[in-house]
Amino acid sequence: MAQDNRTPLRVRFELRRRELRVAERHLLTPHMLRLVLSGDLEGFQSLGFDDHVKLLFPDPHGGETPVMRDYTPRAFDVSKRRLTLDFALHDPAGPATQWALQAKIGDALHIGGPRGSQVWPDAFDHYLLIGDETALPAIGRRLETAPAGQAITVLAMVETAAERQAWVTQARADIRWIYRAEADDVLSAIDALTLPADPLVWIAGEAQWARTVRAHLHDKGLNPKGIKASGYWLKGEAGAHTSLD
Ligand SMILES: Cc1cc2nc3c(=O)[nH]c(=O)nc-3n(C[C@H](O)[C@H](O)[C@H](O)COP(=O)(O)OP(=O)(O)OC[C@H]3O[C@@H](n4cnc5c(N)ncnc54)[C@H](O)[C@@H]3O)c2cc1C
Repeated sequence: MAQDNRTPLRVRFELRRRELRVAERHLLTPHMLRLVLSGDLEGFQSLGFDDHVKLLFPDPHGGETPVMRDYTPRAFDVSKRRLTLDFALHDPAGPATQWALQAKIGDALHIGGPRGSQVWPDAFDHYLLIGDETALPAIGRRLETAPAGQAITVLAMVETAAERQAWVTQARADIRWIYRAEADDVLSAIDALTLPADPLVWIAGEAQWARTVRAHLHDKGLNPKGIKASGYWLKGEAGAHTSLD
C-alpha cells in the first residue's frame, strides 16, 4: 500500500532471539551508560528511530518466561556486528538497570526484536520531540539520522545540566534542556515555543508526564493526529510500556 505523506509506515520483522556480548562500555553522563554489544546481528533491522528491542533476563524465581525490558537501538551496524544501547541509570534500579550497571566486557545479553518499525515520513514541516532520559536514545538517533535542514525542536527533561548530551545533526535543530532539579516545568517550556502550525509531535517518558504533555498540546490546538505519545515507564511500576494513542 502506498504511504501518504503524513502517515507512518508500519513494517513487521521476523522475531529472532539473539545472544550478544558486551564489547564496549562508556559512561556518557553521570546517569547515562552506553553499552556497545557485539554478536550475531544477521538480518537485524530497525527502520524507525523509536523502535525497541526486548532485553531478556532470567526469571529470578526460576520460571521459564524471561523478564523483559524495552530499549531503543541507539545505533547499529550489521556488517560490524555492533548494536549500541544507552541505559538511563535510575533508582530504584530494576533488572535491566542492575544488569547494565554490573555488565563487564564479554558478558552475555539476550535480546529479541525489533518486532517491527514505525517509520514517520519526512514530509512534515516541523518535528517536535519531547522526552525524558529514557527518550534520549530515540531523540539522539533521530537527530543523527535526520535529513539536512529538517526543522526539529527538542525539549529534553533531565535531572541536571550534567546530563546534557551533545548530538551531531544535519537538521536545523533547536535543542532545549529542562532541568528537574531546578523545578523547570515542561509545560512552561512548551509555552515558550513558537509552535509551528502542524508539526509531527513525538512524546516519550514517564507515562503520566507524557499524558500531561500531550493534553497541554491538545489544549494549545495541535492536531491530535500529529501527536504520538508513549509512556516509556510508569512511576512505581516495573516494566511498564504504555501506549497513549
Ligand atoms: C519503546 C521503549 C523504548 C525505551 N528505550 C529506552 C532506552 O533506550 N534507554 C532507557 O534507559 N530506557 C528506555 N526505555 C525505558 C525502560 O524500558 C524503562 O525505564 C524500564 O522500566 C527500565 O527497566 P528496569 O528493569 O531498570 O526497571 P523496572 O524493573 O522496570 O522498574 C523498577 C522501578 O524503577 C522505576 N523506573 C523505571 N524507569 C525509570 C526511570 N527512567 N527513572 C526513574 N524510575 C524509573 C519503575 O517505576 C519501578 O518503580 C524504553 C521504554 C520503551 C517502552
